[in-house]
Amino acid sequence: MIRCCGRLAPSPTGLLHLGNAWAFLLAWLAARAQGGRLLLRLEDIDPQRSRPELAAAALEDLRWLGLDWDAGPDLGGPHAPYVQSLRTDLYAAALARLEAQGLTYPCFCSRRELRQLAAAPHVDDRGAPYPGTCRRLSAAQRQALLAQGRHAALRLRCPPESISFVDAVQGPQCFTLADCGGDFALRRSDGVVAYQLAAALDDGLMGVTQVVRGRDILPSTPRQIVLLRLLRLPVPAYAHVPLLLDAAGERLAKRHHSLALRTLRERGVDARLVVGLLGRLAGCNPSGAALRPQDLLADFSLAKLPRADIHLEAGLVDGLLAG
Ligand code: GLU
Repeated sequence: MIRCCGRLAPSPTGLLHLGNAWAFLLAWLAARAQGGRLLLRLEDIDPQRSRPELAAAALEDLRWLGLDWDAGPDLGGPHAPYVQSLRTDLYAAALARLEAQGLTYPCFCSRRELRQLAAAPHVDDRGAPYPGTCRRLSAAQRQALLAQGRHAALRLRCPPESISFVDAVQGPQCFTLADCGGDFALRRSDGVVAYQLAAALDDGLMGVTQVVRGRDILPSTPRQIVLLRLLRLPVPAYAHVPLLLDAAGERLAKRHHSLALRTLRERGVDARLVVGLLGRLAGCNPSGAALRPQDLLADFSLAKLPRADIHLEAGLVDGLLAG
C-alpha cells in the first residue's frame, strides 16, 4: 500500500492568519493520523504577489504552531526543489506536452475584457466563466494578433465530460469544467504559470496522495484532476474543509491583522491555546484545552468536521490574548 503523503502549501503573499492555521493544522492532522508523511511546498509562483521574507515567516509561524514536515524548502527531499519559483522548467515541459497534444490555445482577451466578465452579477466563488472567445479564432486571426505584438495567455481546451470525486468532508462531487468557469488559463499573458497547473503538477510529481485545503478552493479541484489525468499523473484524495468566518460572517483574510499568527505570537499567546481552540472547532478537543497538535491525533477524524463554514465568536481573539 502507498503510504499517505499530505502537503502544506502556503503562498508567501501575506502573513499567515488563524484561517490558514486552521487549514494547515487539519492537513497535518489528516496525514499524521494515518502515519503519513508531509511535505511543505512554497507556492510563490506569482512574482508580483510573493515576497521572500513572507516565505521565511510562513515556515516560522507553522513551526511555532507545532507543525512539522518531512520534506520542504528548508529540509530538501526526494522531490526538491519545494519552491514553485524554482520549478518553472517542469511547468514549461508539462505545458509543452499539453500543447503538443493540441489541448491548448492562445487567448488574447485583455485584462479589461476579462475584468468585465468578472464584474458580471452572477459570478460566485467559481470565478468568471470564460466564454471561449479565443477558442474560435482561426490560425490567420491568431497570426494577425501576434503580428500586432499582442501577448497571449494559454488556455486549456476543456473536455466536456463531468468530473466526479468523493470529497472526504464535502461528500460526493460532480462538476463539468464549464461549471467551474470553462477553458481556464495555464499560463498568463505575462508568462507566469497559473496556480492550477503548478499545484496539480506538483501534487502529481511530488507523490501527494491527500490534499486538505479550504472549501473556497473546491472549484479548482476538477480542473486539477483533469490536468493530472491529461498528464498521466496519479490523482490524490481531496478534503475541502470549512472556512473560518469572523463575527460579521466574512472569511478570515490577510486584512484581519489581529488574527495573524505573528501578531498572536508577538503578544505572547501560547501556540497551544490556538491549537486547542482549532481542535475544539474540529470536534477533537471538546473542552478547548490548550494542547499541542500531536495531542489532537487520537480523537481527530476528517469525518467529524462540519461541512458548513464556522463563525468565530466575537471576543475570541481577546480571549486568546487574555490567555
Ligand atoms: N497556496 C494556497 C494557499 O496558501 C493553497 C493552494 C492549495 O492548497 O492548493 O491558500
